[in-house]
Amino acid sequence: MKFATKAIHAGYQPAEEKTGAIMPPIYMSSTFALDSPGHTKNGFDYSRANNPNFTILEKTLASLEDASYATVFSSGIGALTALISTLSQGDKVVALNGIYGGTYRLFTQVMERFGIIFINPLHFTLSQLEELFIKEKPQWLLFETPTNPLMKILDIAELTKLTKNYSILSIVDNTFASPYCQSPLKLGADVVWHSSTKYIGGHSDVLGGVIVTNNEQLKHKLDFGRKTMGTNPSPFDCWLLTRGVKTLALRMQQHQKNALEVARFLEKHPKVKRVYYPGLESHPQHQLALKQMHSFNGMLSVEFNLPTEQILKMLSTFHYFTLAESLGGIESLVSHPATMTHAIIPQKMRENLGITDNLVRFSVGIEAISDLIADLEQNLNRYS
Ligand SMILES: *Cc1c(COP(=O)(O)O)cnc(C)c1O
Repeated sequence: MKFATKAIHAGYQPAEEKTGAIMPPIYMSSTFALDSPGHTKNGFDYSRANNPNFTILEKTLASLEDASYATVFSSGIGALTALISTLSQGDKVVALNGIYGGTYRLFTQVMERFGIIFINPLHFTLSQLEELFIKEKPQWLLFETPTNPLMKILDIAELTKLTKNYSILSIVDNTFASPYCQSPLKLGADVVWHSSTKYIGGHSDVLGGVIVTNNEQLKHKLDFGRKTMGTNPSPFDCWLLTRGVKTLALRMQQHQKNALEVARFLEKHPKVKRVYYPGLESHPQHQLALKQMHSFNGMLSVEFNLPTEQILKMLSTFHYFTLAESLGGIESLVSHPATMTHAIIPQKMRENLGITDNLVRFSVGIEAISDLIADLEQNLNRYS
């Protein structure tokens, strides 16, 4: 089965459902009748532990990564919380720069107090990373690619080859790429993590998270973590995600097309200093991106050649690009990483990373491209 077909058919067969309903029912039930004490009908006893809507979505999402297992959660951060619950006091996590601000916050403001040691090297070469692995003996390597918001590409095959040599669990936050654009498990990663709030849901109307893996032992630990930490989703949210993911292939094709046009338009605009989009031939890692990604997403960042106050004003005067957190929905959004997604990261560190006050991030939606370009053109004309 090809990707677009799996997104629609994997996980649910109408013929197997009692009524033949073409779309899965929503099992809004907190608890389930048992056949006898200790014996469930189909493995369901209580919805914090499991629910048929979780299972349907898990089958679909696992199939999109050609993986054996998926566990769904209340949000991306809920998923990470359950994943962290598999660690113990004194365990070490190396996270490469470009991770989500909320990931950074969870480790530095909560998990460190419980004795998880968080190591976040800013700049590193592969050999420096190997030295760090030898010296620190971490349990995990966690990274994102493309990175947020600078769209740097990290070489998944190269990094996971190294983690294997040191028996380190490799975890890739695949939220930005989506399962349509990138399959980290096939490049050697042990674990794929998504905020399904973004491209998987695709309509900015639901939160969700998922961990995908081929590791059976880890799958059991994640199911245990979900019910024990209480980071379960709701049946209705899973149903919304099951509905949203059906159009993932179609949406990603349009996100990619629109983002490339926006990137090309902005790249030659006099008020633009630099465009960060891995799909552009001018992106320094375009070749690596082509090698490890099946296609590109709708995310790009732009360094404007305008005074910062003008940029801040410009952010709220777009017609179609709404100033908001989040990404990956059908509608276009714009954000200011320095004061929004990355405000949690200390300013010195932010600047060191290249996240300047003049950097603006766009989540290009699937509206008509002529409307989006006209909006950018008109809004840019207002400021100098
Ligand atoms: C949004 C996001 C998360 C967190 O997911 P939530 O669903 O908001 O909890 C993690 N990683 C990335 C890259 C994200 O964009």
